Amino acid sequence: MDEDSPNNTAAPVLIPMPAERAYTYAVPPGMRVVPGSIVQVPLGPRQVAGVVWDGAGEQIAAKKLRPINQLFDCPPIDRPMRRFIDWVSHYTLSPPGMVARMMLRAPEAFEPECWTEGLQRTALLPDRMTAARSRVLDVAADGLAWTRSGLAHAAGVSSTVIDGLKTQGVFETVMIPPRPVVAAPDPAYARAELVGDQSEAAASLRASVAKGAFDVTLLDGVTGSGKTEVYFEAVAAALEKSKQVLILLPEIALTHAFLERFQDRFGAKPAEWHSDLAPKTRERVWRQVTEGTVRVVAGARSALFLPFKELGLIVVDEEHDPAYKQEDRVFYNARDMAVVRAHIAGFPVVLASATPSVESRVNADQGRYRRAVLSGRFAEAALPSLRTIDMRRTPPSRGGFLSPVLVGAMKEALERQEQSLLFLNRRGYAPLTLCRVCGHRFGCPVCSSWLVEHRFRGQLVCHHCGHAEKTPEVCPECGTFDHLVACGPGIERIAEEVVGHFPDARTIVLSSDMMGGVRRLRLELEAIAKGEADIVIGTQLVAKGHNFPNMTLVGVVDADLGLANGDPRAAERTFQLLSQVTGRAGRTGKKSLGLLQTYQPDHPVMQAIVSGDAERFYEREIAERERAGLPPFGRLAGVIVSAASRAEAEGHGRGLRRSAPQVADIHVLGPAEAPLSLIAGRYRFRLLVQGERRADMQGFIRQMLSEGPKPRGSIRVQVDIDPQSF
Ligand code: ADP
Ligand code: ZN
Repeated sequence: MDEDSPNNTAAPVLIPMPAERAYTYAVPPGMRVVPGSIVQVPLGPRQVAGVVWDGAGEQIAAKKLRPINQLFDCPPIDRPMRRFIDWVSHYTLSPPGMVARMMLRAPEAFEPECWTEGLQRTALLPDRMTAARSRVLDVAADGLAWTRSGLAHAAGVSSTVIDGLKTQGVFETVMIPPRPVVAAPDPAYARAELVGDQSEAAASLRASVAKGAFDVTLLDGVTGSGKTEVYFEAVAAALEKSKQVLILLPEIALTHAFLERFQDRFGAKPAEWHSDLAPKTRERVWRQVTEGTVRVVAGARSALFLPFKELGLIVVDEEHDPAYKQEDRVFYNARDMAVVRAHIAGFPVVLASATPSVESRVNADQGRYRRAVLSGRFAEAALPSLRTIDMRRTPPSRGGFLSPVLVGAMKEALERQEQSLLFLNRRGYAPLTLCRVCGHRFGCPVCSSWLVEHRFRGQLVCHHCGHAEKTPEVCPECGTFDHLVACGPGIERIAEEVVGHFPDARTIVLSSDMMGGVRRLRLELEAIAKGEADIVIGTQLVAKGHNFPNMTLVGVVDADLGLANGDPRAAERTFQLLSQVTGRAGRTGKKSLGLLQTYQPDHPVMQAIVSGDAERFYEREIAERERAGLPPFGRLAGVIVSAASRAEAEGHGRGLRRSAPQVADIHVLGPAEAPLSLIAGRYRFRLLVQGERRADMQGFIRQMLSEGPKPRGSIRVQVDIDPQSF
């Protein structure tokens, strides 16, 4: 459909389902739809919500067209947003309806919120003044509209007093609009006095926002250098220009502290957006974002698909974080797509990180992004001194996982009444259970992974499909009783060891599968920040962003863990994670220490962390990628084929490979077993498509899929452009 000359008899409607094109519907007489209108249409026996789209829909004979059922009273999706949806669909090779589905999450939100009836003071006076009437007039003197019961309650009178005043014309009936989900933030509320390179960075961001054109700034500075304060200036500048702002955060567990901090700066909270919102709140936030009532949203990656009315800035905090990648239905990286959205709509983006992704660093080095660097921690806060513990020289005592050096440092921290954090990126008690007699290992019945013992729960659990069974006492293989051993540590096991060393210390274990979910986690994090724990043991949930003022020791239990898999991104990931977790120490003036337990203290990642020479690490890593033609110097995509049988999955993968076009700048590897070759009973094979920097990966894969065998039966094919691990 054409925006300037809407055709009033038929319209293409994009429906949230996996179809390659919009469907055509008849527009009933008297209904006026434009591209972007949100409508309800019949689909088979159901009614579904869809969006009137641009261009032409599926060709259908006019007499066969079914009519649009309803036009919702809701602002239409604007043109940049529609182009963004089309762009993401093209780039990720996902049907446009599936991308639009991420924007249309809350069906009830399409109906306007109800206005309520209220009362407002007129210029008339009551015929006779009583004490009760005078109280009512006092309360209503603010000139605002009140509900009948609200006014009666505030004045401490019965509703009949109000009714009496209304009959006399002292109050008139008015309609009160729905209350905003959050108050309006005030850009001038509590501005921080920026210092040194902070002011330079903020001035440059302000200038970008004022200009209101597309550009990308990589805001690069160690944890605690003031990146948040600096990008708050960009937020303030956007608010002053009456633009809406989106701040993306990688982790829901982080939002709470962030909302408070935002409120301290702007006098009101931003609206939050993530999967944990109550449905009613979700609908209201969605609606108020489209209407422009909500000015700032802080949210998880899915917030990128909210149809803002007048978005003028996106901030991607911790831009390197793998949580920005969605690997389900539509595979996309919210950081990259944020840049695309800003490019299409013409406004600036800020990517903030203490450990930028190699991709963003290269973009900055090559001049596509600007780079603003904050060089040190703010005020007297000093970075922790960092050291490795060579586990070959100072091994833990038998059966333990903590070196005496680390235990000694924990003891000293306890004596100083300061907090320690032990970090191990492994949930549960032990990653593997085996029988000491016959060597049987307990694996998941439907995945190619070992079961992880969760001792608090008394279960063996699969971390991929959720399969759980009671921890057995007898080996199912040889029948021996009570000879099962736990191999390797998870955080529960570390907690056990810590309690053995420090029985009187207050110890907290934190991980994503803790009972009580996000709420409980938030309370625990607040308790830690208030100093209500001495020792915290956690997975990567505790690595990110938190500010624990009294934490002066961070111990990484197994710094080598992330390096073990053969992934070319392993070094980058490990560097980022270790920098981030050690950055939890010394957020205030106190002297602090980070200790890395490792068997490879000479590894470049350990050296980079300990020396604090991040630049050298990036140089090396970038040179290495360039030599190997890996991203961002070359392009990658995964084509994942899964099926109920191994042979089917592999066979289909082979068939696809045979139908790959012959071109000079792209080649296909595989099919090989995917990194996890069996999940929930489905076998997975992967083709790796590797191309030169300017290669047309999408065109290539599209052709391969259309000329290759069609997925039948249990076979499913998923495309992952720019895979996280390769
Ligand atoms: P980052 O986002 O880089 O980790 P923050 O913005 O969180 O850094 O800053 C770290 C701490 O220092 C915060 O408590 C912040 O309020 C404080 N801070 C940073 N810069 C300033 C400033 N110019 N004035 C006052 N406080 C600041
Ligand atoms: Zn499983």
